[in-house]
Amino acid sequence: KNEKKIYVIGGGISGLSCAWFLNQAGFAVDVFEADAYPGGMVVNSVPAFRLEDKSILRDIERIRKSGVNIITKTVVNSKKFLQLRKKYDSVFISTGFQVASISIIDGTGCKNIFEAIDFLKIVKQNKNVELGQNVAVFGGGNHAVDAARTAQHLLGANGVTSLVCQYTINDIKADKEEVAAMIEEGVNIVEMVFPIQIIREDNHVKGLEYRVVEQYETNKNGHIKPLKISKTIHSLEFDTIIFSGSYSSNINFVEPDQLKTKEGSLLTRMKNVYIGGGARLGETTLIKAIADGRNAALEIMKKENILQLPTPEKILTEEEIAELLLKKNKREIAVKQKDVPIEERNNFEAVIHPLTKTQAIYEAKRCLQCDVICNVCVSVCPNNAFIGFEIKPEELLIPTIYYNNDNFKVSKKKRLDIKQKYQVICVADWCNECGNCTTFCPTAGTPYKDKNRLHFDKAAFKNEGRGFLLSTDGDLKQLIMKKDGKLSVLSLNWDALIFENDDCMAVLDKNTFEIEHIDIFTDSKGTFDLPEITEMKIIFNAVENLV
Ligand code: SF4
Ligand code: SF4
Repeated sequence: KNEKKIYVIGGGISGLSCAWFLNQAGFAVDVFEADAYPGGMVVNSVPAFRLEDKSILRDIERIRKSGVNIITKTVVNSKKFLQLRKKYDSVFISTGFQVASISIIDGTGCKNIFEAIDFLKIVKQNKNVELGQNVAVFGGGNHAVDAARTAQHLLGANGVTSLVCQYTINDIKADKEEVAAMIEEGVNIVEMVFPIQIIREDNHVKGLEYRVVEQYETNKNGHIKPLKISKTIHSLEFDTIIFSGSYSSNINFVEPDQLKTKEGSLLTRMKNVYIGGGARLGETTLIKAIADGRNAALEIMKKENILQLPTPEKILTEEEIAELLLKKNKREIAVKQKDVPIEERNNFEAVIHPLTKTQAIYEAKRCLQCDVICNVCVSVCPNNAFIGFEIKPEELLIPTIYYNNDNFKVSKKKRLDIKQKYQVICVADWCNECGNCTTFCPTAGTPYKDKNRLHFDKAAFKNEGRGFLLSTDGDLKQLIMKKDGKLSVLSLNWDALIFENDDCMAVLDKNTFEIEHIDIFTDSKGTFDLPEITEMKIIFNAVENLV
């Protein structure tokens, strides 16, 4: 145990994940949950046929028994937030993303109309819900699909559920496999519907009036908006309408501006306050919410200089790495999990049978350990355009130059954090942009664009916006870096290593790249950073022997 105390606002999956990892590393963790029980969305709204309640409750119990203090029915307001910040060393905000905004359909005072998350919660609490025989679920996100499947599981052969959306089924935002399962289970799809109003009789839903969406567009953020709507009004009959609108995190104990984070970090603009899960990501998957909780825990551990993880990262030997790379070239087929037949899906039993112990062990052994070494792009490129190289994970220091006429001082406070031992560079001259690496990249990257790009061909490099050019001429080896419109040149000959850019020329130590002498081309007094030397050192060491 250490002396540090952390509080987590929100006992959902992300908050519990953060609490678990911090607790395992010796922190005292209090979790404040507004609801009467922890678990958040996963307990409230993920249908039991997708994830069994007993599995969720078992995990929560394990976290509680490990020593995490979960305090339920506690709402954090701005006063309490300030008090708690003084009392604890760090805060993790994980309040989720589940507050529904008002629907475009006005159903005020009408029975048989539900918001999707409320509906899922009612069903999960085993409360009685009368749906009639003809249910419409309006929306296209994961909550809408969950609600449609849940309604159909309740109705069974006694009724029909329709998913009603403003666009075509191909453009709906929900996960593709959930959409496929929904269609397989018999949910009817009604596309291109722009709802006008609910048809009601004695405050009971009777149907929906709508116009047809004739044209729509998707903007660069993925939001879909109708462009052209028919003049004619149509109607559909329904007994129950469930709508899934847009959701927000609705954090009201702190100004939204204060919650912004920098890329690669979960630290907000407030000291020692971190944010993650749905509160940061918006609508997201359980896995990403759990990962955010773990990453926040790691960031807090790092800040406190407590880096022992419950399961320390495994350092592989050279032989194990070689074995792993061989394994990546062999295809091992995944276990096919058994589905419950469609005609038997009229209850809330899991529709996909969990793995047996033997299957789970087999699946775990198929893991290619991409977090240790991936290099998938290296192995799938038909042109051998990627070069993998190793580097020591460490925080490299960036030189800052203070100069006054002929005097200069080098200080090193800023850092470049190298997290991964195994790195990849793309030889751009050999890439014909076939896209194979993008298809296979397990992290959905675009490796031939994302990775540092290396050229040997001067003409091709000239047309690039960024990248490196490596050349040789007799004893001279030269690496040129183009970044943010600026060129930096590193030249090595038999007796010197020279760095040059628009601001200066520096003589560097050939082994350490430390600055031995520098001539400044600009004003007589000032300061500037030279991250280029640190970045070029990494690339030069990796590729210098290629020419
Ligand atoms: S896009 Fe380029 S780097 Fe990627 S696989 Fe194709 S040739 Fe190789
Ligand atoms: S870019 Fe993608 S495929 Fe290449 S090493 Fe990284 S994660 Fe793997």
